Amino acid sequence: MAFALSPLPYPDTALAPAISAETLSFHHGKHHQTYVDKMNAAIDGTPHADASLEAIIAASRGSNQGLFNNAAQSWNHAFYWHSMAPATTAPSADLVAKIDAAFGSVDALKQQLKDRGLGHFASGWVWLAEKDGKLSIEETHDADTLADSDFNPLLVLDVWEHAYYLDHQNKRPAYLDAVVETKLNWAFASENLARGQVWTYA
Ligand code: MN
Repeated sequence: MAFALSPLPYPDTALAPAISAETLSFHHGKHHQTYVDKMNAAIDGTPHADASLEAIIAASRGSNQGLFNNAAQSWNHAFYWHSMAPATTAPSADLVAKIDAAFGSVDALKQQLKDRGLGHFASGWVWLAEKDGKLSIEETHDADTLADSDFNPLLVLDVWEHAYYLDHQNKRPAYLDAVVETKLNWAFASENLARGQVWTYA
């Protein structure tokens, strides 16, 4: 069964000025759609055709790089759309307590997310993640994902250039600052923490 493109959880104008409607229309409607289309073509008529996206990611890791890249990018982008909101939302008390324990404060975490996003060389993803009750910032390169890892991902930032080039050109810090300060969906992170299991693609 073919996967549908995971819909944006808000209108494509909702993240401006951090992320413009033009960027969202290309990033979701072209880049994300292409990953989903290529994955669907790769699984058609194979034993993967009826598997979950998370199972396809795990099964293709290390054995079928082409399928892995498109499956992981399909998952990562859906998770990324949910990691942002038209107006930043509030973290739960449990999430704040875990952020304070790991980073000192929410503001300190925000600064570390921006620093890690800026320091990440070339294309990839910067995650807030939980493992064994402890929070950390993790980075994955290119299409790599935490979807099939030991971590429970709570939030992600896309640091591929296509995420910000139309709005901020080469100025990755301006994109990171705008998203981290005004668009992060801490309520989504709180739900992921409370579930205690990796979010699933739908
Ligand atoms: Mn992207």
